[in-house]
Amino acid sequence: MRAIIALGANIGNPKEQMDLAVAMLREATDFQAVSKYFSTKPISDIPQPDYLNAVCIVESDLPALDLLALLQGIEKTLGRERNEKWGPRTIDLDLIQYGTLLSSADELTLPHPRAHERRFVIEPWHSIDPDAILLTHGHISELLEQML
Ligand code: ADP
Ligand code: MG
Repeated sequence: MRAIIALGANIGNPKEQMDLAVAMLREATDFQAVSKYFSTKPISDIPQPDYLNAVCIVESDLPALDLLALLQGIEKTLGRERNEKWGPRTIDLDLIQYGTLLSSADELTLPHPRAHERRFVIEPWHSIDPDAILLTHGHISELLEQML
């Protein structure tokens, strides 16, 4: 199944952590595409550095929770410490959409419940798959137009 994965980093060495996360995804999945790294301003009341954001598309046969565990393993390997929500992070990997799976579980909500309002997800995704559809909100090209 096709997985859309959003990456973000804003402390430590963001570019290096993004490169390493992409390399690990290449090892663990049938890797299809990665966007360029977009530099974005943090959406947070906590003062923090700008982010690098990107989206990867991979094919995987893993059950969804196993794919999530893979992403969390990569976060852990790259030294992510979980502290405040919305706080700075060495690397964040979010599963945006996985095939046509729908889930409302707290541990894994699919599609990702905030993807449609996040330009730092929709813009990189659109750059590598302009015809993509976010199952809950329709064509990402239209979502992006509304953000510009
Ligand atoms: P955020 O990415 O929202 O800033 P975290 O990465 O710290 O915050 O939150 C991760 C938590 O969100 C995890 O406990 C994970 O189980 C849960 N979660 C729910 N849905 C998803 C998803 N689609 N992708 C990644 N994590 C998710
Ligand atoms: Mg996350």
